[in-house]
Amino acid sequence: MKALRFYGSNDLRVEDIAAPEICGPRQVIVKVAWCGICGTDLHEYAMGPIFMPSQQILGHEFSGTVVEVGSELKDYREGDRVAIQPLLAPGVDYYTVRGLGHLSEQSGFVGIRNWAWGGMAEYAVLNDYNVFKLPDSVSDEQGALVEPAAVTLYAIDNSGLQAGNTVLISGAGTIGALTVLTANAVGASQIFVAESNPARRKFIESWGLCGGVFDPITEDVSARICERTTVGVDVAIECAGNEDSLAACLRSVRRQGTVVQVGLATATCNVDLQLLVMKDVTLRGSFCYPIYSWPRVIALIAARKLPVEKTISSRVSLDAAVSDGFEVLTAPGTDRLKILVQPSA
Ligand SMILES: [Zn+2]
Repeated sequence: MKALRFYGSNDLRVEDIAAPEICGPRQVIVKVAWCGICGTDLHEYAMGPIFMPSQQILGHEFSGTVVEVGSELKDYREGDRVAIQPLLAPGVDYYTVRGLGHLSEQSGFVGIRNWAWGGMAEYAVLNDYNVFKLPDSVSDEQGALVEPAAVTLYAIDNSGLQAGNTVLISGAGTIGALTVLTANAVGASQIFVAESNPARRKFIESWGLCGGVFDPITEDVSARICERTTVGVDVAIECAGNEDSLAACLRSVRRQGTVVQVGLATATCNVDLQLLVMKDVTLRGSFCYPIYSWPRVIALIAARKLPVEKTISSRVSLDAAVSDGFEVLTAPGTDRLKILVQPSA
């Protein structure tokens, strides 16, 4: 089968490798339908290796169809359409037994490390807890977006956002854009976005979901927000991963509001602790998602409350994944958000 494998920075190769033929008793083999290119994949491509071993098959945001079912599994059949939950938490440690496998030291990640298989290949072997069935009302393309949407639902959960609250989302890459959709789905009354890329601002504005989409380079985001909310937003979610963006979140949130850091910063950031204390603000991180998020995300998509497909910019074959996917997404000022790869095309 064809697979896209990681060899180092700027070195991804489409190779012919042996397809899996049999799986373990509590595993399935999935024929991949669509796999999204994620920011983590782009980091590895641009400046890796960070987490990825050489020859790793890439891809952790994917959907597909079950083609082989392990002998001990009763709940899956050939032909089941599934979305993949890529976290591996095989241990029985402090976190895993509390349903927090994403925080386990022993965790691995399909398509990143500690698992040979990934979504940018025609087939993948997965554990039973890595696959969740999709109802007919959720497409394969939407299925490939459950993983990044789960990141945003967990961030919103961690923010304590309640129906009727106001929110700033700083950074409108794919995660920021999905956070806009998720905040809207859970009943935010006003959504503001700060994004320096004009193409992305225009795109988010076209959804008609935001009370303001600002350029943090030329506009004072917190001043714009205070004009519209008087006291500031209840919640700010940082999705850009840089110091200026975090500072804008801290300034824009109301007293006793909450700032959630989702963006991964590549450098250490300074925080205005004076402001944090004086405003009585809660600042917290949000990493991945609990693995039980999948049924909630799938249900929101099925109910048409979370139109994740709005973030899809283009679709490419595995052969074109580097030239029309990775290179396009790492180009400065890119107007694309999610690019989906179709390994069997
Ligand atoms: Zn990802």
